[in-house]
Amino acid sequence: MENLAKNLRTQEYGHRISQVKEILNNHGIRVSHQRLLVLDYLIMHPDHPTADSIYKDLKILDPVISQATVYNTLNLLVEKKIIKELDFNMTSKRYEFKKSNHGHFICESCGKIEDVDVVNIEYPKSLDDYDIDSVEVIFRGVCPECR
Ligand SMILES: [Zn+2]
Ligand SMILES: [Zn+2]
Repeated sequence: MENLAKNLRTQEYGHRISQVKEILNNHGIRVSHQRLLVLDYLIMHPDHPTADSIYKDLKILDPVISQATVYNTLNLLVEKKIIKELDFNMTSKRYEFKKSNHGHFICESCGKIEDVDVVNIEYPKSLDDYDIDSVEVIFRGVCPECR
């Protein structure tokens, strides 16, 4: 999925949007102008935006879009596992177009959230008999620009 996102970000709008349509179709989601806007926004903004900032930006592109539509669309896309909802215990949840497993670095000074490649996590022995669905790796600290 990460390569798909990177690839989509390099394409011009018309071509990209037809692939975004396909993603919705493939997940059995009825295509609407506003659903396309929301998903396309997340593909183009890999910086883990909040629902509110997505709404504010899309409102500029489409003045009739409502907050409820944006929130409902986000929930639908999360439910269909096209995007991920991230809860970092911050004031608002964050969203990202789903991609391969990765960790996050959160700057405690400026609040920016960066993706971090995490490979070969060693599972504790005590979890040997457990089925693990996911592992979350979060680094918190101060980024080079804030240091
Ligand atoms: Zn920072
Ligand atoms: Zn991420």
